[in-house]
Amino acid sequence: MLKKLWDIFFGTKGRAMFSGLVCFGLVSEAELLTHRHISIDVFYFLPIFIFTWFGSRRQGLLISAAGLVVWLLDERLDMGHILDHLHIIIWNSLVRLSFFGVTVVLLDQVKVLLARERSVSRLKSAMIHTVSHEFNNALTGLSAGLFLLKETDRAAGDGTRAQLYSAMEASQHKLSLYVKNILNEARMEEGRFRIEKRPLALRELAEGAVESLAELLQQKKLRLTKVFPERPLFVDADYEALSLVISNILGNSVKYTSEGGSIRIKVEESGDGSKVIFSVSDTGIGISLEEMEKITSGFYRTQAGQSAAAGFGLGLRITNELLGLHGSTLQISSEKGKGSRFFFELPVYRPAPERGKKG
Ligand code: ADP
Repeated sequence: MLKKLWDIFFGTKGRAMFSGLVCFGLVSEAELLTHRHISIDVFYFLPIFIFTWFGSRRQGLLISAAGLVVWLLDERLDMGHILDHLHIIIWNSLVRLSFFGVTVVLLDQVKVLLARERSVSRLKSAMIHTVSHEFNNALTGLSAGLFLLKETDRAAGDGTRAQLYSAMEASQHKLSLYVKNILNEARMEEGRFRIEKRPLALRELAEGAVESLAELLQQKKLRLTKVFPERPLFVDADYEALSLVISNILGNSVKYTSEGGSIRIKVEESGDGSKVIFSVSDTGIGISLEEMEKITSGFYRTQAGQSAAAGFGLGLRITNELLGLHGSTLQISSEKGKGSRFFFELPVYRPAPERGKKG
């Protein structure tokens, strides 16, 4: 009993009621102090909204009842002879109470719907993350197995087997690029993506990407030109992120350039020597001006792109996001039907000179 009373006055319900009355009191007081008629009805909704939204439906209804009490007290002061105006008071009370009640119920429903929507989206994102993580692990195992098989198979060089291995490697590469993009997008959405910067030679990363695409390049009989600087140019970046950026850009050029076309991958220093520019140019299907703005926004694929190859439209979005984490952005110049150039710039990394060393 004592506990019940304590709960009513000092528990969650009691606190809600008390704070609500304080809110109403403040509004009434403001009216008295300023001698102006403040449309108090509108202000009734403020505490009702706050308590329903941040508390519960029950708290909202309690505050509605408190609002009614405050109104009655206000009116009684104004009307003097309460009994003469009883019917007005009863009628008004009923209208107010039902109006407040409907507001509370509707607001609470919106709140429940939003919470459900949020939890479904969190669940989806967690599921995508788990599935792609598992896929990634399985793919790593498969690619290691494939590599060992190829290395130890004496007949690996013979025509049919060579073709088989190359087809398997190409599929494995395509699949792992998709999985990595999905995995990173999920991480990015959850705000869990962390980059760890360290000095990286862009040329080596580019060589790595070319090597992993060798099978696809061969399959499509594409001519690849590499234009790399003599001495390595370093950038301060995350290894995994930048590898994925380069694989996506180069992978797309391979995907969207028809057989016999050519691709050029270039790493160069900017005119003033402050930046490294990485670019991939191709003689592929190209992109029109209005489509260029859309392809990095995610899940957008050009008409020509859809007929040329399969895809999700996620690679360039994650590429741009990853570059954004490095303070850079993906730039595109292209002409429909003629080819494209995808490029980005990063500041040249120069180690700080060691202090105290002479000569
Ligand atoms: P996906 O290749 O899986 O569709 P991306 O985000 O990598 O996803 O690319 C988005 C779209 O941009 C592609 O569907 C294609 O229409 C277009 N695109 C990307 N790279 C090229 C390119 N090198 N040449 C022509 N179109 C391209």
